[in-house]
Amino acid sequence: MSALDEVVFDRWEEGFVHPTGFCGLCGNSGVVDTRGTLSSSTGVECGVIAMCICPTGHGLIERGVKTTQQLESWLRVMSPAGRVR
Ligand SMILES: [Zn+2]
Repeated sequence: MSALDEVVFDRWEEGFVHPTGFCGLCGNSGVVDTRGTLSSSTGVECGVIAMCICPTGHGLIERGVKTTQQLESWLRVMSPAGRVR
């Protein structure tokens, strides 16, 4: 793990782990998808779909998952049916 990876992991561990132990960003799917749900204070849509900074997200990087299509496909597999958009 690089020094930067360690900094990111420490930040994630300090601020984004739910008390249950699940990732508070992705729910342990490894993918964060804020498209259509996030805008700036001036109303600019700024949602993204990306690999999470948690260990599951890092695992996706190692598996070569990186395109939007791959991320959407992975999210469909990993998310409960009610949460898939
Ligand atoms: Zn995560």
